Amino acid sequence: MTTVAAYAAPAAKAPLERTTIERRAVGESDVLIDIKFAGICHSDIHQAREGWGEAIFPMVPGHEIAGVVSEVGPGVTKFQVGDRVGVGCMVDSCRECENCLRGEEQYCLKGMVGTYNAVGKDGEPTYGGYSEKIVVDENYVVRIPDGLSLDVAAPLLCAGITTYSPLHHWNAGPGKKVAVVGLGGLGHMAVKIAHAMGAEVTVLSQSLRKKDDGLKLGADHYHATSDPKTLEELAGTFDLIVSTVSAPMDFGALLSLLKVDGALVNVGAPEEPIALNLFSVIGGRKTLAGSMIGGIRETQEMLDFCAEHGIGAEIELISAAEINEAYERVLASDVRYRFVIDTATI
Ligand code: NAP
Ligand code: ZN
Ligand code: ZN
Repeated sequence: MTTVAAYAAPAAKAPLERTTIERRAVGESDVLIDIKFAGICHSDIHQAREGWGEAIFPMVPGHEIAGVVSEVGPGVTKFQVGDRVGVGCMVDSCRECENCLRGEEQYCLKGMVGTYNAVGKDGEPTYGGYSEKIVVDENYVVRIPDGLSLDVAAPLLCAGITTYSPLHHWNAGPGKKVAVVGLGGLGHMAVKIAHAMGAEVTVLSQSLRKKDDGLKLGADHYHATSDPKTLEELAGTFDLIVSTVSAPMDFGALLSLLKVDGALVNVGAPEEPIALNLFSVIGGRKTLAGSMIGGIRETQEMLDFCAEHGIGAEIELISAAEINEAYERVLASDVRYRFVIDTATI
Protein backbone atom coordinates (compact mmCIF):
# COMPACT_ATOMS: atom_id res chain seq x y z
CA MET A 1 0.00 0.00 0.00
CA THR A 2 1.13 3.55 -0.71
CA THR A 3 -0.20 6.64 0.97
CA VAL A 4 -0.88 9.44 -1.50
CA ALA A 5 -2.26 12.97 -1.22
CA ALA A 6 -5.72 13.59 -2.65
CA TYR A 7 -8.64 16.01 -2.62
CA ALA A 8 -11.83 14.53 -1.22
CA ALA A 9 -15.38 15.46 -0.33
CA PRO A 10 -15.71 14.24 3.28
CA ALA A 11 -19.53 14.14 3.02
CA ALA A 12 -22.27 14.96 0.53
CA LYS A 13 -22.28 18.65 -0.43
CA ALA A 14 -19.25 19.37 1.80
CA PRO A 15 -16.39 21.31 0.17
CA LEU A 16 -13.51 19.20 -1.06
CA GLU A 17 -10.37 19.30 1.07
CA ARG A 18 -6.86 17.91 1.05
CA THR A 19 -6.46 14.46 2.59
CA THR A 20 -4.49 11.25 2.11
CA ILE A 21 -5.68 7.89 0.76
CA GLU A 22 -4.15 4.43 0.39
CA ARG A 23 -3.44 2.96 -3.03
CA ARG A 24 -3.12 -0.81 -3.28
CA ALA A 25 0.26 -2.43 -3.92
CA VAL A 26 0.98 -2.90 -7.64
CA GLY A 27 -0.43 -6.34 -8.53
CA GLU A 28 0.38 -8.78 -11.32
CA SER A 29 -1.41 -6.88 -14.10
CA ASP A 30 -1.46 -3.40 -12.53
CA VAL A 31 0.28 -0.20 -13.50
CA LEU A 32 1.09 2.59 -11.08
CA ILE A 33 0.40 5.95 -12.68
CA ASP A 34 1.80 9.30 -11.56
CA ILE A 35 -1.23 11.47 -12.25
CA LYS A 36 -0.29 14.76 -13.91
CA PHE A 37 -3.70 16.21 -14.73
CA ALA A 38 -7.31 15.46 -13.79
CA GLY A 39 -10.31 17.02 -15.51
CA ILE A 40 -13.42 18.14 -13.62
CA CYS A 41 -16.54 16.55 -15.13
CA HIS A 42 -20.04 17.68 -14.17
CA SER A 43 -20.58 14.05 -13.10
CA ASP A 44 -18.03 14.67 -10.31
CA ILE A 45 -20.33 17.37 -8.97
CA HIS A 46 -23.53 15.33 -9.33
CA GLN A 47 -21.90 12.54 -7.30
CA ALA A 48 -20.08 14.64 -4.69
CA ARG A 49 -23.45 16.26 -3.92
CA GLU A 50 -25.35 12.95 -3.99
CA GLY A 51 -27.49 14.26 -6.83
CA TRP A 52 -27.72 10.76 -8.32
CA GLY A 53 -28.46 9.05 -5.01
CA GLU A 54 -26.50 7.69 -2.11
CA ALA A 55 -22.73 7.84 -2.59
CA ILE A 56 -19.58 6.63 -0.85
CA PHE A 57 -17.63 9.10 1.33
CA PRO A 58 -14.98 10.29 1.64
CA MET A 59 -15.10 10.68 -2.15
CA VAL A 60 -12.08 11.45 -4.30
CA PRO A 61 -13.70 12.34 -7.64
CA GLY A 62 -11.96 12.44 -11.00
CA HIS A 63 -12.35 10.20 -14.04
CA GLU A 64 -10.43 12.21 -16.60
CA ILE A 65 -6.94 11.12 -15.68
CA ALA A 66 -3.73 11.72 -17.63
CA GLY A 67 -0.33 10.70 -16.30
CA VAL A 68 2.84 8.70 -16.69
CA VAL A 69 3.45 5.06 -15.77
CA SER A 70 5.95 4.82 -12.91
CA GLU A 71 5.80 1.10 -12.10
CA VAL A 72 4.37 -2.03 -13.74
CA GLY A 73 3.36 -5.41 -12.32
CA PRO A 74 5.23 -8.53 -13.48
CA GLY A 75 2.42 -9.65 -15.81
CA VAL A 76 1.95 -6.31 -17.56
CA THR A 77 2.45 -6.52 -21.33
CA LYS A 78 0.97 -3.32 -22.79
CA PHE A 79 2.81 -0.62 -20.85
CA GLN A 80 6.27 0.32 -19.67
CA VAL A 81 7.60 2.79 -17.14
CA GLY A 82 7.54 6.25 -18.75
CA ASP A 83 4.50 5.65 -20.98
CA ARG A 84 1.93 8.45 -21.21
CA VAL A 85 -1.43 7.00 -20.28
CA GLY A 86 -5.01 7.81 -19.43
CA VAL A 87 -7.77 6.38 -17.25
CA GLY A 88 -11.43 7.23 -17.72
CA CYS A 89 -14.64 6.36 -15.90
CA MET A 90 -14.03 2.68 -15.21
CA VAL A 91 -11.20 0.66 -13.70
CA ASP A 92 -12.64 -2.85 -13.98
CA SER A 93 -15.61 -4.95 -15.14
CA CYS A 94 -16.51 -8.67 -15.16
CA ARG A 95 -14.57 -9.34 -18.41
CA GLU A 96 -16.86 -12.30 -19.18
CA CYS A 97 -20.31 -11.04 -20.11
CA GLU A 98 -21.33 -10.47 -23.71
CA ASN A 99 -20.85 -6.72 -23.44
CA CYS A 100 -17.37 -6.99 -21.90
CA LEU A 101 -16.38 -9.56 -24.51
CA ARG A 102 -17.31 -7.26 -27.36
CA GLY A 103 -15.37 -4.38 -25.81
CA GLU A 104 -18.30 -2.46 -24.34
CA GLU A 105 -17.23 -2.82 -20.75
CA GLN A 106 -19.19 0.30 -19.80
CA TYR A 107 -22.33 -1.80 -20.25
CA CYS A 108 -20.99 -4.78 -18.26
CA LEU A 109 -23.97 -6.91 -17.19
CA LYS A 110 -22.51 -7.26 -13.71
CA GLY A 111 -21.80 -3.53 -13.54
CA MET A 112 -18.52 -1.84 -14.39
CA VAL A 113 -16.34 -0.72 -11.49
CA GLY A 114 -16.31 3.07 -11.51
CA THR A 115 -13.03 4.92 -11.09
CA TYR A 116 -14.48 6.40 -7.89
CA ASN A 117 -17.67 6.16 -5.82
CA ALA A 118 -17.63 2.40 -6.41
CA VAL A 119 -16.33 -0.74 -4.73
CA GLY A 120 -13.48 -2.60 -6.43
CA LYS A 121 -13.17 -6.37 -6.76
CA ASP A 122 -10.99 -6.26 -3.62
CA GLY A 123 -13.97 -4.96 -1.65
CA GLU A 124 -12.35 -1.55 -1.13
CA PRO A 125 -13.83 1.76 -2.26
CA THR A 126 -12.31 3.21 -5.41
CA TYR A 127 -10.80 6.69 -5.40
CA GLY A 128 -10.45 8.86 -8.48
CA GLY A 129 -8.10 11.23 -10.19
CA TYR A 130 -7.93 14.20 -7.83
CA SER A 131 -4.83 12.58 -6.36
CA GLU A 132 -1.12 12.10 -6.95
CA LYS A 133 -1.11 8.46 -8.03
CA ILE A 134 -3.46 5.64 -8.96
CA VAL A 135 -3.06 1.88 -9.42
CA VAL A 136 -5.12 0.43 -12.28
CA ASP A 137 -5.27 -2.91 -14.08
CA GLU A 138 -3.58 -2.44 -17.47
CA ASN A 139 -6.70 -3.61 -19.30
CA TYR A 140 -8.50 -0.43 -18.22
CA VAL A 141 -5.65 1.94 -19.14
CA VAL A 142 -5.25 3.63 -22.53
CA ARG A 143 -2.27 5.18 -24.27
CA ILE A 144 -2.14 8.92 -24.88
CA PRO A 145 -0.61 9.49 -28.33
CA ASP A 146 2.57 11.58 -28.48
CA GLY A 147 0.89 14.39 -30.39
CA LEU A 148 -1.44 15.23 -27.48
CA SER A 149 -0.30 17.20 -24.42
CA LEU A 150 -1.39 15.52 -21.21
CA ASP A 151 -3.29 18.56 -19.88
CA VAL A 152 -5.60 18.90 -22.89
CA ALA A 153 -5.83 15.11 -23.26
CA ALA A 154 -7.19 14.52 -19.74
CA PRO A 155 -10.78 15.64 -20.56
CA LEU A 156 -10.87 13.31 -23.56
CA LEU A 157 -11.04 10.39 -21.12
CA CYS A 158 -14.66 11.27 -20.31
CA ALA A 159 -15.90 14.30 -22.27
CA GLY A 160 -14.10 13.08 -25.41
CA ILE A 161 -15.25 9.48 -25.41
CA THR A 162 -18.80 10.27 -24.23
CA THR A 163 -19.35 12.42 -27.31
CA TYR A 164 -17.17 10.48 -29.80
CA SER A 165 -19.04 7.23 -29.12
CA PRO A 166 -22.57 8.38 -30.08
CA LEU A 167 -21.28 10.55 -32.95
CA HIS A 168 -19.52 7.50 -34.35
CA HIS A 169 -22.38 5.07 -33.61
CA TRP A 170 -24.99 7.32 -35.27
CA ASN A 171 -22.70 8.01 -38.26
CA ALA A 172 -21.94 11.73 -37.94
CA GLY A 173 -20.02 12.63 -41.08
CA PRO A 174 -20.17 14.40 -44.43
CA GLY A 175 -23.73 15.23 -45.50
CA LYS A 176 -25.08 14.91 -41.94
CA LYS A 177 -26.55 17.79 -39.98
CA VAL A 178 -25.63 17.41 -36.32
CA ALA A 179 -26.76 19.61 -33.44
CA VAL A 180 -24.99 19.75 -30.09
CA VAL A 181 -27.08 20.96 -27.16
CA GLY A 182 -25.14 22.69 -24.35
CA LEU A 183 -21.68 24.13 -24.90
CA GLY A 184 -19.89 22.94 -21.78
CA GLY A 185 -17.23 20.27 -21.25
CA LEU A 186 -18.95 17.54 -23.26
CA GLY A 187 -20.58 19.94 -25.70
CA HIS A 188 -17.38 21.63 -26.81
CA MET A 189 -15.77 18.24 -27.43
CA ALA A 190 -18.82 17.14 -29.40
CA VAL A 191 -18.48 20.22 -31.63
CA LYS A 192 -14.78 19.59 -32.28
CA ILE A 193 -15.23 15.88 -32.95
CA ALA A 194 -18.37 16.18 -35.11
CA HIS A 195 -16.62 18.88 -37.16
CA ALA A 196 -13.54 16.67 -37.59
CA MET A 197 -15.82 13.82 -38.71
CA GLY A 198 -17.06 16.10 -41.49
CA ALA A 199 -20.60 16.84 -40.27
CA GLU A 200 -22.34 20.20 -40.51
CA VAL A 201 -22.48 21.27 -36.88
CA THR A 202 -24.98 23.50 -35.07
CA VAL A 203 -24.71 24.53 -31.43
CA LEU A 204 -27.92 24.97 -29.45
CA SER A 205 -27.01 26.90 -26.32
CA GLN A 206 -29.12 28.73 -23.75
CA SER A 207 -27.92 32.08 -25.11
CA LEU A 208 -25.62 33.55 -27.77
CA ARG A 209 -23.01 34.42 -25.08
CA LYS A 210 -20.50 31.83 -26.34
CA LYS A 211 -21.28 32.14 -30.07
CA ASP A 212 -17.80 33.31 -31.13
CA ASP A 213 -16.19 30.44 -29.25
CA GLY A 214 -18.59 27.90 -30.73
CA LEU A 215 -17.82 28.99 -34.27
CA LYS A 216 -14.07 28.87 -33.56
CA LEU A 217 -14.43 25.35 -32.15
CA GLY A 218 -15.82 24.22 -35.51
CA ALA A 219 -19.57 24.90 -35.44
CA ASP A 220 -21.14 26.09 -38.67
CA HIS A 221 -24.22 27.58 -36.98
CA TYR A 222 -25.13 28.72 -33.48
CA HIS A 223 -28.60 29.34 -32.01
CA ALA A 224 -30.07 30.24 -28.64
CA THR A 225 -32.73 27.87 -27.31
CA SER A 226 -34.15 30.78 -25.28
CA ASP A 227 -35.19 32.47 -28.55
CA PRO A 228 -38.60 31.07 -29.62
CA LYS A 229 -37.68 31.68 -33.28
CA THR A 230 -34.96 29.01 -33.02
CA LEU A 231 -37.52 26.21 -32.71
CA GLU A 232 -39.56 27.52 -35.63
CA GLU A 233 -36.58 28.08 -37.90
CA LEU A 234 -34.89 24.75 -37.22
CA ALA A 235 -37.93 22.44 -37.18
CA GLY A 236 -37.18 19.19 -39.05
CA THR A 237 -33.53 20.09 -39.69
CA PHE A 238 -31.21 17.58 -38.04
CA ASP A 239 -30.16 14.00 -38.67
CA LEU A 240 -28.67 13.74 -35.20
CA ILE A 241 -28.90 15.79 -32.02
CA VAL A 242 -26.58 15.09 -29.09
CA SER A 243 -27.80 16.62 -25.83
CA THR A 244 -25.14 17.21 -23.20
CA VAL A 245 -27.36 19.22 -20.88
CA SER A 246 -26.86 18.58 -17.18
CA ALA A 247 -30.35 19.73 -16.10
CA PRO A 248 -33.84 18.59 -17.13
CA MET A 249 -34.94 20.25 -20.35
CA ASP A 250 -37.69 20.13 -22.95
CA PHE A 251 -36.89 17.03 -25.02
CA GLY A 252 -40.15 17.39 -26.95
CA ALA A 253 -38.85 20.67 -28.33
CA LEU A 254 -35.52 19.06 -29.29
CA LEU A 255 -37.28 16.14 -31.00
CA SER A 256 -39.22 18.60 -33.17
CA LEU A 257 -35.89 19.68 -34.68
CA LEU A 258 -35.16 16.21 -36.11
CA LYS A 259 -35.78 15.07 -39.67
CA VAL A 260 -37.85 11.93 -40.25
CA ASP A 261 -35.74 8.99 -38.93
CA GLY A 262 -33.50 11.40 -37.03
CA ALA A 263 -32.07 10.53 -33.62
CA LEU A 264 -31.84 12.52 -30.41
CA VAL A 265 -29.12 10.99 -28.29
CA ASN A 266 -28.98 12.11 -24.70
CA VAL A 267 -25.71 11.93 -22.80
CA GLY A 268 -26.58 14.45 -20.07
CA ALA A 269 -27.40 12.94 -16.68
CA PRO A 270 -29.77 15.35 -14.90
CA GLU A 271 -30.69 14.62 -11.31
CA GLU A 272 -34.43 14.90 -11.98
CA PRO A 273 -36.62 12.97 -14.46
CA ILE A 274 -38.29 14.67 -17.40
CA ALA A 275 -41.83 14.45 -18.70
CA LEU A 276 -42.19 13.71 -22.40
CA ASN A 277 -45.22 13.58 -24.67
CA LEU A 278 -44.59 10.46 -26.76
CA PHE A 279 -46.27 11.99 -29.79
CA SER A 280 -42.95 13.75 -30.28
CA VAL A 281 -41.31 10.47 -31.36
CA ILE A 282 -44.27 8.93 -33.20
CA GLY A 283 -44.51 11.66 -35.79
CA GLY A 284 -41.41 11.29 -37.92
CA ARG A 285 -40.35 7.80 -36.74
CA LYS A 286 -37.79 9.42 -34.47
CA THR A 287 -35.32 7.76 -32.15
CA LEU A 288 -34.71 8.92 -28.60
CA ALA A 289 -31.59 7.21 -27.32
CA GLY A 290 -28.93 7.44 -24.67
CA SER A 291 -25.23 6.64 -24.55
CA MET A 292 -22.75 6.15 -21.72
CA ILE A 293 -19.01 6.87 -22.12
CA GLY A 294 -17.43 4.19 -24.39
CA GLY A 295 -15.48 0.94 -24.12
CA ILE A 296 -11.73 0.73 -23.64
CA ARG A 297 -11.04 -0.12 -27.29
CA GLU A 298 -13.21 2.74 -28.49
CA THR A 299 -11.56 5.12 -26.01
CA GLN A 300 -8.19 4.30 -27.58
CA GLU A 301 -9.69 4.78 -31.04
CA MET A 302 -11.03 8.20 -29.93
CA LEU A 303 -7.61 9.27 -28.58
CA ASP A 304 -5.95 8.25 -31.83
CA PHE A 305 -8.62 10.12 -33.81
CA CYS A 306 -8.11 13.24 -31.68
CA ALA A 307 -4.33 13.08 -32.08
CA GLU A 308 -4.68 12.66 -35.83
CA HIS A 309 -6.98 15.69 -36.04
CA GLY A 310 -5.07 17.81 -33.51
CA ILE A 311 -8.00 17.84 -31.09
CA GLY A 312 -7.54 18.49 -27.39
CA ALA A 313 -9.93 20.08 -24.90
CA GLU A 314 -10.06 23.84 -24.29
CA ILE A 315 -9.02 24.00 -20.67
CA GLU A 316 -8.62 26.28 -17.68
CA LEU A 317 -5.77 24.83 -15.67
CA ILE A 318 -6.37 25.26 -11.94
CA SER A 319 -4.66 24.35 -8.68
CA ALA A 320 -6.28 21.88 -6.30
CA ALA A 321 -7.18 24.73 -3.93
CA GLU A 322 -9.47 26.12 -6.65
CA ILE A 323 -11.61 22.97 -7.05
CA ASN A 324 -14.56 24.19 -4.98
CA GLU A 325 -14.71 27.49 -6.85
CA ALA A 326 -14.49 25.61 -10.15
CA TYR A 327 -17.49 23.47 -9.10
CA GLU A 328 -19.55 26.63 -8.56
CA ARG A 329 -18.57 27.95 -11.97
CA VAL A 330 -19.51 24.67 -13.68
CA LEU A 331 -22.91 24.78 -11.94
CA ALA A 332 -23.38 28.33 -13.25
CA SER A 333 -22.58 27.18 -16.86
CA ASP A 334 -19.47 29.36 -16.58
CA VAL A 335 -16.88 26.88 -17.79
CA ARG A 336 -14.66 27.55 -20.81
CA TYR A 337 -14.62 24.64 -21.46
CA ARG A 338 -13.11 22.20 -18.99
CA PHE A 339 -11.39 22.79 -15.66
CA VAL A 340 -8.28 20.65 -15.34
CA ILE A 341 -6.46 20.23 -12.04
CA ASP A 342 -2.67 20.40 -12.03
CA THR A 343 -2.19 17.52 -9.61
CA ALA A 344 1.28 18.77 -8.65
CA THR A 345 -0.61 21.32 -6.50
CA ILE A 346 -2.43 18.71 -4.38
P1 NAP B 1 -21.05 21.15 -18.20
O1 NAP B 1 -19.65 21.45 -18.58
O2 NAP B 1 -21.64 21.81 -17.01
O3 NAP B 1 -21.97 21.42 -19.49
C1 NAP B 1 -23.37 21.30 -19.46
C2 NAP B 1 -23.96 22.40 -20.35
O4 NAP B 1 -25.37 22.22 -20.35
C3 NAP B 1 -23.75 23.80 -19.83
O5 NAP B 1 -22.53 24.35 -20.23
C4 NAP B 1 -24.92 24.54 -20.47
O6 NAP B 1 -24.58 24.88 -21.81
C5 NAP B 1 -26.01 23.49 -20.52
N1 NAP B 1 -26.96 23.67 -19.43
C6 NAP B 1 -26.72 23.65 -18.09
N2 NAP B 1 -27.85 23.85 -17.40
C7 NAP B 1 -28.85 23.99 -18.32
C8 NAP B 1 -30.24 24.22 -18.24
N3 NAP B 1 -30.87 24.35 -17.05
N4 NAP B 1 -30.95 24.31 -19.40
C9 NAP B 1 -30.34 24.19 -20.58
N5 NAP B 1 -29.01 23.99 -20.71
C10 NAP B 1 -28.28 23.90 -19.61
O7 NAP B 1 -21.23 19.59 -17.93
P2 NAP B 1 -20.49 18.35 -18.64
O8 NAP B 1 -19.32 17.96 -17.81
O9 NAP B 1 -20.34 18.64 -20.07
O10 NAP B 1 -21.59 17.20 -18.41
C11 NAP B 1 -22.88 17.36 -18.97
C12 NAP B 1 -23.81 16.27 -18.45
O11 NAP B 1 -23.40 15.01 -18.98
C13 NAP B 1 -23.79 16.09 -16.94
O12 NAP B 1 -25.11 15.80 -16.49
C14 NAP B 1 -22.89 14.90 -16.74
O13 NAP B 1 -23.13 14.20 -15.54
C15 NAP B 1 -23.26 14.07 -17.93
N6 NAP B 1 -22.26 13.09 -18.36
C16 NAP B 1 -22.73 11.93 -18.90
C17 NAP B 1 -21.84 11.00 -19.38
C18 NAP B 1 -22.33 9.77 -20.05
O14 NAP B 1 -21.59 8.79 -20.12
N7 NAP B 1 -23.53 9.77 -20.58
C19 NAP B 1 -20.47 11.23 -19.28
C20 NAP B 1 -20.03 12.43 -18.74
C21 NAP B 1 -20.94 13.36 -18.29
P3 NAP B 1 -24.96 26.31 -22.45
O15 NAP B 1 -24.41 27.33 -21.51
O16 NAP B 1 -24.29 26.29 -23.77
O17 NAP B 1 -26.44 26.35 -22.57
ZN1 ZN C 1 -17.36 12.41 -16.76
ZN1 ZN D 1 -19.07 -7.73 -18.01
